[in-house]
Amino acid sequence: MTKVGRPPKRDKDGNVVHRKICSVYLDIRLVTYINEKVGNLSDWMENSMRSAFKNEFCFYCFSDKIEENTLNYKCTNPKHEMMDGNGAPSVILNWKRCECGNSYEPVLGKNETFYCGYITETKKNVCAICLREWKILNPDKIQG
Ligand SMILES: [Zn+2]
Ligand SMILES: [Zn+2]
Repeated sequence: MTKVGRPPKRDKDGNVVHRKICSVYLDIRLVTYINEKVGNLSDWMENSMRSAFKNEFCFYCFSDKIEENTLNYKCTNPKHEMMDGNGAPSVILNWKRCECGNSYEPVLGKNETFYCGYITETKKNVCAICLREWKILNPDKIQG
């Protein structure tokens, strides 16, 4: 028997993603523009929706138990925390950015993890908040 229709969408691990048709009414000019621009309206819309909720919803757990702290947005689902690094993506959904432009995402340097998105030896123009965070997270690296 021949298969009819498109092959099912799969995630990066090969699991079938169950999808549902959602009818939405859109300005036809917008639909034309997006189709011409990106080719696939469904994918574009899904990506846009995910991006709109990127700090409020974990798309791994499909849960909204998200905790916001000074540095990041984090999924608090215990199952996800357990699986973090064991096949699951990080529980940290997104790292925040300071007003001075620094990301709080850890940066790797010289076989060590330096926090706060910068390495002290290479970047000097950091604000007091970033410097304080860096000192809190790297107590062993403070001299004197
Ligand atoms: Zn999660
Ligand atoms: Zn800063």
